[in-house]
Amino acid sequence: MSGHLEVNNSPRIQTLAASNGDPLMGVLRRYFGYDHFRGFQREIIEHVLQGGDAIVLMPTGGGKSLCFQIPAILRPGVGIVISPLIALMQDQVGALQQLGIRAAFINSSMSWQEAMVVTDEAKRGRLDLLYMAPERVVTGSALDLLARIPLALFAIDEAHCVSQWGHDFRPDYLGLTVLAERFPQVPRLALTATADPPTRAEIAKRLHLENARSFVASFDRPNIQYRVVAKNNPQAQLLHFLRREHVGDAGIVYCLSRAKVEETAQWLVQQGWNALPYHAGLPNGVRKVNQQRFLCEKGVIIVATIAFGMGIDKPDVRFVAHLDLPKSMEAYYQETGRAGRDGMPANAFLTYGLEDVVMLRQFIEKSSAEERIKRIEHGKLETLIGFCETVQCRRRLLLAYFGDDPPETCSNCDNCLSGMETWDGLVVAQKALSCVYRTQQMFGVPHVIDVLTGIKTEKVLSHGHHKISTFGIGKELTPGQWRSVFRQLVAGKYLEMDVEGYGGLRLCEASRPLLRGEKTILFRMEKGLGKKSAKVGKKKLSVKGLKSAVSSAVDALRTQGTPKKKLHGKV
Ligand code: ADP
Ligand code: ZN
Repeated sequence: MSGHLEVNNSPRIQTLAASNGDPLMGVLRRYFGYDHFRGFQREIIEHVLQGGDAIVLMPTGGGKSLCFQIPAILRPGVGIVISPLIALMQDQVGALQQLGIRAAFINSSMSWQEAMVVTDEAKRGRLDLLYMAPERVVTGSALDLLARIPLALFAIDEAHCVSQWGHDFRPDYLGLTVLAERFPQVPRLALTATADPPTRAEIAKRLHLENARSFVASFDRPNIQYRVVAKNNPQAQLLHFLRREHVGDAGIVYCLSRAKVEETAQWLVQQGWNALPYHAGLPNGVRKVNQQRFLCEKGVIIVATIAFGMGIDKPDVRFVAHLDLPKSMEAYYQETGRAGRDGMPANAFLTYGLEDVVMLRQFIEKSSAEERIKRIEHGKLETLIGFCETVQCRRRLLLAYFGDDPPETCSNCDNCLSGMETWDGLVVAQKALSCVYRTQQMFGVPHVIDVLTGIKTEKVLSHGHHKISTFGIGKELTPGQWRSVFRQLVAGKYLEMDVEGYGGLRLCEASRPLLRGEKTILFRMEKGLGKKSAKVGKKKLSVKGLKSAVSSAVDALRTQGTPKKKLHGKV
């Protein structure tokens, strides 16, 4: 690095270097007002100052921006920052200018004259940082412009957007390969907060960063407590959580749909909370005001779709609550990562139910994406379901997903704190599977539960399900407990759900050893559902009819092999 600084004749840098002997610290203090670097920041900055390329993986809030901002200030020329978040560019640039950094942006919202002024400054090397959107960078005219600007570096922010594995794929990012080709001498940094190992590999490949040094920060956010609860009445559950733990706190509540955002925000206001909605369907002005109030006022709860949060930098968000299941671990990690950036205790709270699983699986199935992408998305969703259902440390699962090797327990997730209680659910599972079989593998969870608990609904009567052997054999569990059982059976792939249709349940290959009693199964004891089930699990097969139901289901599985298709047996 010192070598680089010797050839650098910028009077600015000489002043900084002379001021305290450590130019990096000088910049950090003088421009940003911080006293020390975090994690790998210094190493990354030094590496880039020496002209090296880098892949930077740091969790949201980890401090990625400094890793390119400081080298851009110190290196001669302009640092080009490629960021997909056009809406935030103005704020980011404004904040930098306030710190005395010569930053600007070019985007489609500017007049021709404004753009001219900026390009002129850039050509003269009078900027430290120039922000551009990816779709702009890859145009011929922008590349010609870049060729005429003295360049300090390229920073490719949100680099996971280049990955088709990712949840944020943007085709324009693929065009960024051209930077390596056209400007091989200019250091490039790819930065992201979300990268599982396949995504990481794809970033390296697509951006020609195979030889770049990787800096992977730990993804652990020890101050965030992870908690997942079974969804029964999400609004009431949220209210209970807020009253007990977050009176007066700022937080984010994520919902899947715009309608639910509106409804939940309104409801919270009626309950006396300072809540505001945010989703892409609201007028621009309203969104801006709500976001601003969340950022500036104390104790505002923002109820939002995933449209909210990219680039939000509010340190004292005390909780992030999900009333619906996000679609991947990446999304969950990124969204919950908006809590507790100040390092103080914060909560990630998720209500999770089977209906979410069905709906998200349907979304994927019905989307116009190609089969390969659908498979990837299904896989990502399944991983998240596994996270929700796990009886192990949630942090461990989360971090292992991002390639870390964390300890077995963390003492700051619900499973570690309460010691997940489980119960032996073999008999109950057999009842559930047999009943699915006996009702022709055509019906969804509610109907099967009606049959198990012996409720003569119109549907039960019209299908003659009050006459089958599994009718009423499950009265020892409440419908709520049965829902928990079915959720865990589906999550564990003992049952599959017809996602293209109406959520009808079918047996799977893994059902066989359970039905035969060759394998046991542990269910999570869910709080609030009572402990009745624990005893039930230990009961012997005592119900008349269950045995025969089980054995015919086993037979059917044996003769038909893996039941990818529905099993139509004679029952
Ligand atoms: P990221 O882009 O990784 O999400 P940012 O670069 O926006 O994170 O940084 C998150 C917050 O941490 C910002 O408020 C930033 O000013 C602050 N920050 C970054 N580096 C340091 C540091 N070395 N010391 C103190 N605060 C820092
Ligand atoms: Zn834990």
